Amino acid sequence: GATIGILGGGQLGRMMALAGSNMGYRFVALEPVQDAPCGQVAGQIVAAYDDREAARELAKRADVITYEFENVDSGVAAMLMEESYVPQGSQLLHTTQHRLREKRAIEAAGVQVAPYAEIGSEQELREAAERLGLPSVLKTATGGYDGKGQWVLRSEADIAPAYAELSRSGAQLVLEQFIRFDKELSVIAARSSLGEIKTFPVAENIHVDNILHLSIVPARISEDIAERARELAMKIAEGLGAVGLIAVEMFLTASGELYVNELAPRPHNSGHYTMEACRTSQFEQHVRAICSLPLGDTSLMTPVVMVNVLGEHVEPVIERFAKADEAAVKRGVAPKLHLYGKSEAKAKRKMGHVNVLAASVDQALAWIDETNIWRA
Ligand code: ATP
Ligand code: MG
Ligand code: MG
Repeated sequence: GATIGILGGGQLGRMMALAGSNMGYRFVALEPVQDAPCGQVAGQIVAAYDDREAARELAKRADVITYEFENVDSGVAAMLMEESYVPQGSQLLHTTQHRLREKRAIEAAGVQVAPYAEIGSEQELREAAERLGLPSVLKTATGGYDGKGQWVLRSEADIAPAYAELSRSGAQLVLEQFIRFDKELSVIAARSSLGEIKTFPVAENIHVDNILHLSIVPARISEDIAERARELAMKIAEGLGAVGLIAVEMFLTASGELYVNELAPRPHNSGHYTMEACRTSQFEQHVRAICSLPLGDTSLMTPVVMVNVLGEHVEPVIERFAKADEAAVKRGVAPKLHLYGKSEAKAKRKMGHVNVLAASVDQALAWIDETNIWRA
């Protein structure tokens, strides 16, 4: 079988390697952290992501190269494209590494984003805040995740400190109108190197402290909205010429408008529910997409709620899973634990997740509530 090289060796790479191994592929990850989640189940080259020698070694050992995080050094990506096969190319990475480029590309695909402005100075921020209104959200254009690198401006008094703080990184800034959303949704689309596109069912996402907490599927929305959300994701995958997975995060307002928040050109935390709940998981789909195989059926087989296991949840979760749960079995609730093999259970660190399969999402939510593990 062929070998797939992955830039990055975290949990997304691990789950990709686990799915792809079943399909007969071998995996090798380039990752600086020794014994990383992916390295435990695949080969690993231990080196910095921007280490050219190591990247060349990866290119030599792999027939196909992909990535599991989006901040891949563009020079390394360009080099890999010369020395190996990178079906996803580097264009989509370049676009999604920068919020302004990403927003322009989404708009060019005919999909709406929250009104926004490019910010180059505190004066420009004042003018933009006037125009877009408060509250609005100031974000660094690059490098942010889990809500890091952003500041919600609620009054004029926030402008100066927010500008001072976020401009310190040297990154370009963008101001977005605050969308008073009813729900946050995401859709993962896959586009194969042959141009075939399929989307997964819509996930309804609940964040706590800007970190994904729950993905509820089916999302508690109308058929019409679900269809529009999936169509919008297809349009983006097509418009941006994606290959592999592309995750589309969006806001749904009370009046039924959808605004795209951001994209991720890789497997996504809100797609982990697919591992047991869909006929094809997002990881298998990604491997199919980059290896020019026909895409798999994305149908949902059961209602499911995914709940993230952060550092502070690991111990109680392990305790809970060490005991038989007759009540859950009786009610047809099947919680599936996934742990990523990370040793240091730091607070807020993503250590694993549980996919709670049940006859309804309410039953799954009730199980999560009853465990007492995720209560604040
Ligand atoms: P991720 O970990 O998903 O990459 P991130 O740091 O890139 O997160 P965003 O997804 O842009 O950040 O924002 C984090 C969260 O903040 C969103 O999921 C949403 O709850 C809230 N948020 C961001 N932008 C807006 C907005 N324009 N209006 C309302 N809420 C917003
Ligand atoms: Mg993000
Ligand atoms: Mg986000």
